[in-house]
Amino acid sequence: MTKIIEVQLNDQAVSEMKKGYPLIPKNGVLNPQALKEEGSLLKLVDRNWRFVAKGYYGVQNKGIGWVLTRKENEEIDFDLFKSKIAAAFKRREAFYNDPNTTAFRVFNGEGDGIGGLTIDYYDGYYMVSWYSEGIYSLKHHIYNVLDKIVDYKAIYEKKRFAQKGQYIEQDDFVRGEEGDFPIIVKENGMNYAVDLNDGAMTGIFLDQRDVRKAIRDHYAEGRTVLNTFSYTGAFSVAASLGGAKKTVSVDLASRSKSKTIEQFSVNAIDYEQQEIRVMDVFDYFRYAKRHELKYGLVILDPPSFARSKKYTFSTARNYPELVKDAIAVTEKNGIIVASTNNASFGMKRFKSFIDKAFKETKTKYKVLEESSLPRDFRSNRNFPEFNYLKVVILEKLN
Ligand code: SAH
Repeated sequence: MTKIIEVQLNDQAVSEMKKGYPLIPKNGVLNPQALKEEGSLLKLVDRNWRFVAKGYYGVQNKGIGWVLTRKENEEIDFDLFKSKIAAAFKRREAFYNDPNTTAFRVFNGEGDGIGGLTIDYYDGYYMVSWYSEGIYSLKHHIYNVLDKIVDYKAIYEKKRFAQKGQYIEQDDFVRGEEGDFPIIVKENGMNYAVDLNDGAMTGIFLDQRDVRKAIRDHYAEGRTVLNTFSYTGAFSVAASLGGAKKTVSVDLASRSKSKTIEQFSVNAIDYEQQEIRVMDVFDYFRYAKRHELKYGLVILDPPSFARSKKYTFSTARNYPELVKDAIAVTEKNGIIVASTNNASFGMKRFKSFIDKAFKETKTKYKVLEESSLPRDFRSNRNFPEFNYLKVVILEKLN
């Protein structure tokens, strides 16, 4: 049996944890010298050595590990991982049974009871993401569970933590029979090409499924669409299938062009009727303003931080300016979809960024929809900080 390390927490950390908070905060540990090797199993105790919870040691940005059980006599072993993973799969039964959606998240970290681990499903293929050295060192448990309870074509993994000080985002084949990528997955009847063995790009961000559907079903028809930070053009495809007059996709990465052509093509959309620009979004806004181009739908989905040759963009600091750029090129009664995956602020603050941009440009707007992560990205309602996605869909009124 693995040795368990006792970690003492300060009163605040204990009180939060008793309310169900799953992260072990770095600054809440009273005896950090006890923490040596990531992946160690921990018994979390209060300052009087009374039991609080059990978890594991794994360093992520805000915490040094996660709670796995609050039962003193429960062992952290194969059975515990199995019951959590099996329960998570069961919660996604409706997704497994829906032939129109064949890509979704089956295990969402702390939301499903194991922080630092996510598992995505792509039509028979599984992608496991590890967010710390610690959880990665427990991988044998998780792969043993998957061998036992799922019928997979193959498993791939992504290590989303620095190794020897270096962060390399890469997909690796783990087991099964290697796929013939790209494969085509379905999402609410739309097709998306996905490659699980191609560096950082898999082709689609699963957490935006509901937004793609909303764009297709409610906001695209008859409109000219500007999709900024477009990556593989997933939103453009949804808009086009929803009857958009035309889409313009703008992304700095040169690979985004062939990837976007591919996404249009697997949906039988003539990509030559669409515009795909490999270009800095901020330069594109200047160009559009200079030519007085206007759009009926503008989509903003930037990364948390972006650094190009000319500009540095941080969502936490520069989102109001981005919205101002969007306002300048949006028609009267046009729609703006504003999205961010930055976990460092909440919906209220995000909406204040949007509001600031409209106030400063003396423009009026109406919020039509607000949303966060879709259902398969399970998260605890009491701890909104783990529900990082914030999307506001609004209408520009004048
Ligand atoms: N909206 C996309 C995901 C965006 S990922 C989707 O739904 O699939 C962020 C993208 O922003 C990346 O593809 C990156 O290449 C691009 N990017 C970052 N900085 C940029 C900039 N200054 N101009 C244009 N694209 C940028």
